[in-house]
Amino acid sequence: MVRVVLLGPPGVGKGTQGRRLASEHGWALISTGEMLREAVARRTPLGIEAQKQMDQGLLVGDEVMIGLVNERSADTDAAGGFVLDGFPRTVPQADALDVTLTRRGHALDAAVSLRAPDVELVRRMSARRECPVCKRAYNLVSWPPRDGRHCDDHPDVDLIQRADDTPETVKRRLVVYGQQTAPLLDYYRSRGRLREVEGLGAMDDVYRALTRTLGL
Ligand code: AMP
Repeated sequence: MVRVVLLGPPGVGKGTQGRRLASEHGWALISTGEMLREAVARRTPLGIEAQKQMDQGLLVGDEVMIGLVNERSADTDAAGGFVLDGFPRTVPQADALDVTLTRRGHALDAAVSLRAPDVELVRRMSARRECPVCKRAYNLVSWPPRDGRHCDDHPDVDLIQRADDTPETVKRRLVVYGQQTAPLLDYYRSRGRLREVEGLGAMDDVYRALTRTLGL
C-alpha cells in the first residue's frame, strides 16, 4: 500500500505513469486534471467555473481543489493506496493534503518528481492525444495509435487533443508550473519525501525507474 504524489511539469508523463502504477497495484488514481475535464464535459457548476482557468492555462482555486481531493481520497477504492496526479500544485494544497492525511492517521509515502527539459515537454504536448472514452494517452510521434487516428481499444472513437494543449496555453502552463508548483520540490525535499526520476526516454524505462525509487 502506497500513498504517493507525482510531481512534475505538464507533459512530463505523470498521467501515463500514474495510470499504469495505480492499475498494476490496484491503487486508486486520483487525477485532478481528469476530474476537472470530466466536470467540464458534463457542464457541472464546478466544470463551468473551472473551464475559465483551465482554458487559460491557469490554476483552479486552492479551496475548490482541496475540497475535491479530500472527498475523492476518502472513497473506499483509495483506502488501499492512491496515486495523486496533478495535486498538490501549490504550497497551500500540499499543506492541506498533509493535514487531511494526518487527521486520518495516514501519511504520504513519497513525492516523486518526474523531470524533462521544456523543449521536450512542448514537443510532447503538441503531439499528445487521448481517447475521450478510456482516457488512454497517445503521442502521434512516439506512441501513435495503430491506425493513426482511433483509440486501439475503441476503434470507433476518434482521439482528441486537449483544449489546453495549444502552443500559447502550453507556454503559460509551463510558467505557472515554475512559479506555483516547482516550489513543492523543496517543500517535499525538506520533509525527506522527495524522490527524483528522469522523465525523458522510453515509457517503460521511466516506469521501471519510478517503481524502483518506490521500492516496488
Ligand atoms: P492536468 O491534466 O494535471 O495538466 O491539469 C489540467 C488543468 O486543470 C490545469 O492546467 C489546471 O487548470 C487544472 N488543475 C488540475 N489540477 C489542479 C490543481 N491541483 N490545482 C489547480 N488547478 C488544477
